[in-house]
Amino acid sequence: MKILVINAGSSSLKYQLIDMETESVLAKGLCERIGIDGHLKHTPLIGGKPVFDEDLAMPTHSEAIAAVIDKLTSAEYGVVASMKEIDAVGHRVVHGGEKFASSVKIDDAVMAALEECIPFAPLHNPANITGIEACRKVMGDVPMVAVFDTAFHQTMPGKAYMYAIPYEYYQNDGIRRYGFHGTSHRYVSARCAELMGKPIEELKLISCHMGNGSSICAIDGGKCVDTSMGFTPLVGLPMGTRCGDLDSGVIQFIMNKYGIGIDEMLNILNKKSGVLGVSGVSSDFRDLDAAAAEGNDRAQLALDMFHYWVAKVAGSYVAAMNGVDAIIFTAGVGENSKSSRAAIAEYFGYLGVTIDPEANAKRGEDIMISTPDSKVKVFVIPTNEELVIARDTKAICG
Ligand code: ADP
Repeated sequence: MKILVINAGSSSLKYQLIDMETESVLAKGLCERIGIDGHLKHTPLIGGKPVFDEDLAMPTHSEAIAAVIDKLTSAEYGVVASMKEIDAVGHRVVHGGEKFASSVKIDDAVMAALEECIPFAPLHNPANITGIEACRKVMGDVPMVAVFDTAFHQTMPGKAYMYAIPYEYYQNDGIRRYGFHGTSHRYVSARCAELMGKPIEELKLISCHMGNGSSICAIDGGKCVDTSMGFTPLVGLPMGTRCGDLDSGVIQFIMNKYGIGIDEMLNILNKKSGVLGVSGVSSDFRDLDAAAAEGNDRAQLALDMFHYWVAKVAGSYVAAMNGVDAIIFTAGVGENSKSSRAAIAEYFGYLGVTIDPEANAKRGEDIMISTPDSKVKVFVIPTNEELVIARDTKAICG
């Protein structure tokens, strides 16, 4: 069975074609500047075929999908003989609200429900919906599945997902913590249980997804019991450019003092804050590491704040679960930055965590970086959201 995994943004579309017999990626690619002019980078990963990397007109997502199918099936760049070999499509969808606690086969009723979730993710969900509609148009009745970033977090108890504001806002408007990166937290926690050789039902895990956007998740017995992102992905940890937790009084103060509106304020909190805002250097942790090494105090402060917040939130989840068996690092920073992992692990001394510096220096593989006698285990597990989407699609359509 071959499954096409699609992650559609407002002007971009990422894809992977995965062979489920071997769970190997046959081809992957990225359409960019959809609706502007259009560019496709298509990389076949079997058969020694060349990479296609050229401008292509893409007035809408439909042309983008058509171009992807064309390349996947072409003699020169293709990895399958025809579209008939693509058995199903899995779509990443950012927000499933309270309607979707798991992945679902797409039909007209699901499309209507996705529309109803737009107010929760006004930037992301319309793009995801456009991607699905374009696929249905180009690929006809090929079965399709929606996999939600929020679904894994639907097991949180009310005490974790409720905000302490008047209850009507939850009842009437669905305002609550939803959480994001659920597909990633689900993948790495399941993989961690495999690596530990124990049923996930017996484990208390803390998953730290640290990328450009970052969130932490407490997973007790395989179920999410708390997570750091909220109604939107803006809160929790300070991130590349997002502020993380912030006293809402600060928002009122800045807006009043500088006479700025809510849209500009949110733009500042989403795009100009986080480690970029504090350091004034970059949102990229590689740049921060380099600047800090050259003695830039604000870059060091931004790094210190990030590490402190990861430790602080993870520590609160130890309390929430009354213990922890393993801590997982994943995503761009979690998978690649040994200095960030080491700095965060320093805070976990009280848990009996000791890190093996040699293991911590390795990259690109699932690895336990704590010493064998460490009371709480620490793992680096490269995330693979596309594989989860493909597996769910297979389970539902297979
Ligand atoms: P996204 O949240 O956009 O999916 P990723 O998970 O790919 O992001 O993470 C991207 C971030 O990973 C980059 O912004 C960079 O800060 C960080 N990163 C990548 N490689 C390294 C590295 N070697 N050292 C430190 N940080 C890294």
